[in-house]
Amino acid sequence: MNNDNRQTVQLTVDGRAITANEGELLIDVLYREGIRIPSLCYSPGLSRPGSCRSCLVEIEGTKGSKPACEISVENNMQIRAESPSLEREHKIILSLLLEHYADDNHDPEMIDHTEFGYWLRRYDLQPPTSKHHKLLYSDDSDPHPAIRVNLNKCILCTRCIRACSEIQGRFVWGLADRSDKTRITAGNDETMLDARCESCGACVAYCPTGALSDRNAAPDFQADEKVMTTCSYCGVGCNFDLNIKNGRLRHVTANPHAPVNGMHLCVKGRYGFDFVHHPDRLTRPMVREWVLQGTQRSQCGDRGKWVSVSWDRALDVVARRFSAIIDESGPDALGIFSSAKCTNEENYLMQKFARQVIGTHNIDHCARLCHSSTVAGLAAAFGSGAMSNTMADVAGQAWALFVIGSNTTEQHPVFGSMLRQAVHQRGARLVVADPRRIDLAEFAELHLQHKPGTDIALVNGLMHIIIENGLQDEAFINARTQDYDAFRDSLKKYTPHHVSSITGVPAGDIVKAAEILGTVKPMAVIWSMGITQHTVGVQNVFSLANLQMLTGNMGIPGGGVNPLRGQNNVQGACDMGALANVFPGYQSVTDENARKKFNRAWALSNRNELFGPKPGLTITEMVDGALEGSIRGFYILGENPIMSDPDVNNVRKALANAEFTVLQEIFPSETADYADVLLPGVSFAEKDGTFTNTERRIQLIHNAVISPGKAREDWAITTDLARRMLKFRNLEPTGEYAKWVYSSSAAIMEEITALTPSYAGVSHERLQNGEQLYWPVKNKQHRGTPILHMGKFTRGKGLFHIAEHLPAKELPDADFPLCLTTGRVLYHWHGAEMTRRSIPLAALYPETLVEISREDAARLNIENGQTVRLVSRRGEMIATADISDRVPTGLVFGNFHFPDEANVNNLTINAVDPIAKIPEYKVCAVKIETRLR
Ligand code: SF4
Repeated sequence: MNNDNRQTVQLTVDGRAITANEGELLIDVLYREGIRIPSLCYSPGLSRPGSCRSCLVEIEGTKGSKPACEISVENNMQIRAESPSLEREHKIILSLLLEHYADDNHDPEMIDHTEFGYWLRRYDLQPPTSKHHKLLYSDDSDPHPAIRVNLNKCILCTRCIRACSEIQGRFVWGLADRSDKTRITAGNDETMLDARCESCGACVAYCPTGALSDRNAAPDFQADEKVMTTCSYCGVGCNFDLNIKNGRLRHVTANPHAPVNGMHLCVKGRYGFDFVHHPDRLTRPMVREWVLQGTQRSQCGDRGKWVSVSWDRALDVVARRFSAIIDESGPDALGIFSSAKCTNEENYLMQKFARQVIGTHNIDHCARLCHSSTVAGLAAAFGSGAMSNTMADVAGQAWALFVIGSNTTEQHPVFGSMLRQAVHQRGARLVVADPRRIDLAEFAELHLQHKPGTDIALVNGLMHIIIENGLQDEAFINARTQDYDAFRDSLKKYTPHHVSSITGVPAGDIVKAAEILGTVKPMAVIWSMGITQHTVGVQNVFSLANLQMLTGNMGIPGGGVNPLRGQNNVQGACDMGALANVFPGYQSVTDENARKKFNRAWALSNRNELFGPKPGLTITEMVDGALEGSIRGFYILGENPIMSDPDVNNVRKALANAEFTVLQEIFPSETADYADVLLPGVSFAEKDGTFTNTERRIQLIHNAVISPGKAREDWAITTDLARRMLKFRNLEPTGEYAKWVYSSSAAIMEEITALTPSYAGVSHERLQNGEQLYWPVKNKQHRGTPILHMGKFTRGKGLFHIAEHLPAKELPDADFPLCLTTGRVLYHWHGAEMTRRSIPLAALYPETLVEISREDAARLNIENGQTVRLVSRRGEMIATADISDRVPTGLVFGNFHFPDEANVNNLTINAVDPIAKIPEYKVCAVKIETRLR
């Protein structure tokens, strides 16, 4: 018996004994055992059309050959995968497939680069070229910037069609025409992009012939090595292979053993890493001339000339300047921005640097801007601020999905595809709540298009109906929660009619959604920044935590609270304590025992207390501090506040006001204009370490590429700087973990595990051995915790909170009559320092667009593609109008991927949630002008 309760059977293949599960398909068994036979329409992970008949085998006791994709294995089967007659049959079938195939590039002497090429060589078959028959199609027949199409090489295996529909949940590819004219075609015989291709490249990954190929990979390319690593874009945490030649990253290919994503990737993961070798990369430390000369900086904006210097010189300058600020104004006059793009090990060191070396809790990172409300809200409700379930169990086991404030298919695309699969292939019932008609709404049973900033009213309305109909899970509420009665009473006023008047959602739809969410179990709630980036962000999160307790959907597979973290390692940066109020592992700086523990671990001579009990300043507070002059210097790692913070005109003034700013980056980002020292770090492909994805899964990244110039790993830079500062300030490390001596990032992880209970059992070695570790990992034997809160919440009982609807800080009025909401798009990432420097991504989305509804466009006389000016009380933005049904009347949507006047953050408001201090990116008031000044 197997662990999935199936009987095992014994069989032989060419005399080799093999164990399989009864009923398993023979072709799957052969793949698993590494026994290769031609199988051109079959591919693991796709449905089986059984059309090419190439996977023929012989079964002892039966006549003739049979396709392995149609045979279920039985006990004692004796299979022949190789025999003289099979050899003949395979050759005939391959010859038939060559009838309409032509390849002018085939080189029989070369290692084969496609699956089909391998079999042609194996059976000594020469593919026809244009000399043998006229090419039916033009080579490179589609203008897609990342994918090359050559239908002359297509053998109609239909893997591309199935990959697009079954994996990506898109239906770009299909078959056109009949009999010998049959061909694959995009959409209605149009370009791939016109056919709504999302450029994920799944069709390329599965194509066995090279008819669809990576435009940026030469057909004869052969990598020196393939290095599996973790994506540096979003929090899904896909793995893939970096294809390396001569120390350079040439392209990315999927790896079927990738634990989160298998063969699937999104457009950024598959095509967005050419930035690694972009000529803009920072290669040498640079310091402003005024700093080196010891003169005063000009106060009129420009900080003057850059001078390239040695690492020693640059780090000495930083150590002296930071020390001077500490001596004159105290440690809290410095602000430190850590980076969710960097590894756990680097984030750990950044907060250690802030707390031990500088002596301040003024450390924060972009989680402040994306999910700080999730962390605060869930920690208060359950005792842990993280995603409770895994993506696989949500996509594989939830029977109802409530996606609110998450444009999943664009922001977490591989997980978005998994949700589409759950709906298409399993019949999971999807309810989407979003002010925009996002792509997932197409797949939803119900789209609740509520007004921005009315989430609490909507969710309270759903819960009101659930209770009215007696659908609440009383047993769960009684056994596992507290403060239910007051919470229940608070919902009385949220009648469907009242909620409809606040949200704009028809009352009938609210009732229908409540019926689905209240009756179908398990039900998973999924959210992202549509929920968190509000002045009521924490209250929004309380509402969703309440919903999952009310319906008893916590601590079970397929249920839970599932906030999707944005950046690749924003979860890890939080875990590592790169936050103003917590040490690593969310040990509060206000907790005396935690302070004692870290004071001891990082102890320095001549300093009794390394840090105080008061939490430090958040990003937005540090920016305000710089404006007022209380923050005099910054150390910024891999963040670009000039792009990503709200009300960037204010941020520009603040950074201009700061006396001394150090930026550690891979590119001269927009923030570099405000820096005095530039320290060149390295990209994810040039360093070792770990990222923690949105589901708390800790994964390795690997150094695979030669770094440009003098660029150094970020952990090595911070370590070097820390040592210099300690020496400069005559501080001797005396605590067990006070020293800054690390031979590798694995050694840093050892220090982390000693001080961070939730990471106690983590090691690079365990990860290298293939263990899948989700924190908490309590010790070296513990296997991790894929699902949180099973049987008991981290805090004991789950706590219901009363959350009341409150309007957003700035709503449309007569002067600014439109509501602006903001976010990212599929093809770019955050401030887009990397994606704007990727040729395919920049080609796919070259300029900033703002979505405007048809009604507003008609009223304002705006045509599609017209350049428009958006104005708020804080600034202006110039963008191209994208007239679209995605936004309702009165709402416009913009992104923050393009700099200067094209950045939507010129307009956004820096009003923040009072608890989490997260800005309200999702709602402010604007007007549109069509006359450009
Ligand atoms: Fe990378 Fe996220 Fe795309 Fe996966 S879904 S390839 S992690 S950006």
